[in-house]
Amino acid sequence: MPSVPKWIGNVMESVFSGSFTPVTVDTVSLPDEGLKQVRFKGNFSKSNISFVPGQKIEFRVSDTDYRHYTPAYFNKEEGICDVLFYLHDQGPGSRWAAALKAGDETKLMGPGGRMRLDRQAAMHVVYGDETSLGLFQGMAHEAAHLKVPYFCIAEMDAAHQHWGHLVPAAIHAVEKHTAFKAYNAKNLLQQWLQDYKEPKEQIAFYLSGNARAIQEFRKALFSQGFKSSQVQADPYWSEGKHGL
Ligand SMILES: Cc1cc2nc3c(=O)[nH]c(=O)nc-3n(C[C@H](O)[C@H](O)[C@H](O)COP(=O)(O)OP(=O)(O)OC[C@H]3O[C@@H](n4cnc5c(N)ncnc54)[C@H](O)[C@@H]3O)c2cc1C
Repeated sequence: MPSVPKWIGNVMESVFSGSFTPVTVDTVSLPDEGLKQVRFKGNFSKSNISFVPGQKIEFRVSDTDYRHYTPAYFNKEEGICDVLFYLHDQGPGSRWAAALKAGDETKLMGPGGRMRLDRQAAMHVVYGDETSLGLFQGMAHEAAHLKVPYFCIAEMDAAHQHWGHLVPAAIHAVEKHTAFKAYNAKNLLQQWLQDYKEPKEQIAFYLSGNARAIQEFRKALFSQGFKSSQVQADPYWSEGKHGL
């Protein structure tokens, strides 16, 4: 629900109050211009959620707008939720995140959603862009915990190629092609698959970021013979669309 009238938003917050966890901005850091890491703290003990990396959360970013984000780290017991925001300054979500400062109070919905790390997989391949840095971090953390390898492909603007090093995850950055979506990411995937000698049926793929780039990447996976059961996708944004 990217946008609803203000009065409906207010009614939802009071009727479904159990779905909204009040949180406070605990710490804020700016790893680089356009990138903001925020630690939210709240009491999640009353909710029956159990977070699996890959899942999403939602914030009310204005009286009428709601936007999704991905926990880079979530610890229900300690009441911690970390989010990495890409500040593209093109909408209310980005501007809300840019203004967040320590001590601010807001409400968090979730985590939830269908995309989640597949604990049976022997290898995790995560694809995305600047909006996926939190996803990469969350997946990398969980894969390390499970002692399972992972491979992250971040297709980002030329000016953001170093952002992969600002996140505690091994991220392979490629530049966005000026004309063709996912072009450089598909080439990197191709090379990587040539060197990957383990059973390919045990790889789990997670596709995030731009909706059209996801479509291209997914087509490439299916043309390589991967099954749809191996591929999870969650489009994060689409040109000209407000919230997804
Ligand atoms: C499940 C899910 C998880 C997400 N997780 C994260 C996350 O962890 N961190 C994060 O930073 N973002 C994340 N996003 C993306 C974020 O919600 C979008 O960038 C969202 O559009 C921001 O809202 P906005 O109000 O700033 O812009 P909107 O009002 O939604 O869009 C305004 C304009 O900006 C354009 N736009 C939106 N995103 C981008 C972009 N990345 N690059 C260029 N133009 C863009 C839109 O196409 C539109 O034209 C996630 C999205 C989803 C659906």
